[in-house]
Parts: sequence; structure tokens; C-alpha cells
Amino acid sequence: MDEKNKKSIKTVDEFGRILIPKSIRKQFGINPGDNLVYEVDADRIILRRPTEKCIFCQSETEVETTMGRPVCKKCMEKLKNQ
Ligand SMILES: [Zn+2]
Repeated sequence: MDEKNKKSIKTVDEFGRILIPKSIRKQFGINPGDNLVYEVDADRIILRRPTEKCIFCQSETEVETTMGRPVCKKCMEKLKNQ
């Protein structure tokens, strides 16, 4: 692991799996059984922790679970003002 550039090379095994280094799993709080989301950008694959999306606007910012449903702060304000 090159700490300066946060780059490391991993080899994909015969099943298409790659190992996430322990230091990275620790940094992101990734535990066995956790789900991760991968997103395909034009020329790269982004691996990230799942974030909840607002059920109204699909925003991922300031989302809180309200009555068991993820709702963002902005939509919450709109609901309150109705
Ligand atoms: Zn929203």
C-alpha cells in the first residue's frame, strides 16, 4: 500500500474476487457480511458503503429515517409545511 497515493494493486482471483486490505476495511468500518455498493463510472469502478436515498427526491444528503423510511431534510421541511 502506497500511503501517499492510496493506491495498491490487487489481483482478481479465478472467481472475480478481490481482497480489500484490512487497513481499508478498518478505516471504513467494513465488516464481514456488510453490503457494499459498486458504481460503474466511465472508466472506473467505485466501491462504497451503501447510503440511504430519500424516498421522495433520491437525494443522499442529510437523509434520516423517519417512520421507517429514509427522508432527506429538505423533503422533511416540505412535508412539515404542507
Ligand atoms: Zn428528499
